[in-house]
Amino acid sequence: MPISKNYHTHTWRCKHASQDVSAYCQAAVDSGLTVLGISDHTALPDNRWSHIRMDIDELPMYCDAVDQAAADFPQLIVLKSAECEYADEYDSFFRETLLGELEFDYLVGAAHFFPMQGEWIGSYGGADSLKSLQAYSSYFIKSMESGLFAFMAHPDLFGNSYLSWDENTIAASHDMFTAAAELNVPLEINGYGLRKPKIDTPEGRRCMYPWLPFWEMAAEYQITYIVNSDAHHPKDVSANLEEAAGIGQRLGLTMADLSHLESNRAK
Ligand SMILES: [Zn+2]
Ligand SMILES: [Zn+2]
Repeated sequence: MPISKNYHTHTWRCKHASQDVSAYCQAAVDSGLTVLGISDHTALPDNRWSHIRMDIDELPMYCDAVDQAAADFPQLIVLKSAECEYADEYDSFFRETLLGELEFDYLVGAAHFFPMQGEWIGSYGGADSLKSLQAYSSYFIKSMESGLFAFMAHPDLFGNSYLSWDENTIAASHDMFTAAAELNVPLEINGYGLRKPKIDTPEGRRCMYPWLPFWEMAAEYQITYIVNSDAHHPKDVSANLEEAAGIGQRLGLTMADLSHLESNRAK
């Protein structure tokens, strides 16, 4: 079953991706996608973590770029989104500004950072102990509980720094799966992780994410999953979608249907 939708795409504005919305749309059309969600790392009102995102004053231009591409590519459904780290102080910005005033079609939740003992920790390298895994999973659950997010990106991101699958990863994952099932929030098998360099662990070489034991465990819960390329370059706009979907299929997971996100844009 070919996957024709990708809901996770970046642009040059996040400072670690290339090119603009229109180039991704052209690549999407060329590779046969029917739906492309543009979900660059969100701007934040206080410009926190600005090294990996647009500044707040770039937000109007980002929205214009998405709206313009939606008009220029009538053969493609182009959705306006952003990948967001949840925090109480941003709740009204996400809800009222992005989803409200600026009419974003949906938001993506992601735990690139998580709060621990009053400090924000980077998930790259920072989720390396029982304590930090617990903090990561509590934050992940709190993000889902906000009700803001259409799905959660790379839930198994902690696999980049916690190297062995053990009782701690099992406990943290159990909590995340239980909440995702209860709240009905789809979890993403992320294609970018499949393209990134592998890491060496005591159990051998593997992807940082998707981390297979995580998804094997997911099959024991009533969760749904989606697959995305998480493209940071137009050539990757539909990369690894089939491979990611293959993981879910092999494990008997249920793929979420996100067609409702298209309701404002459907042509
Ligand atoms: Zn990124
Ligand atoms: Zn991303």
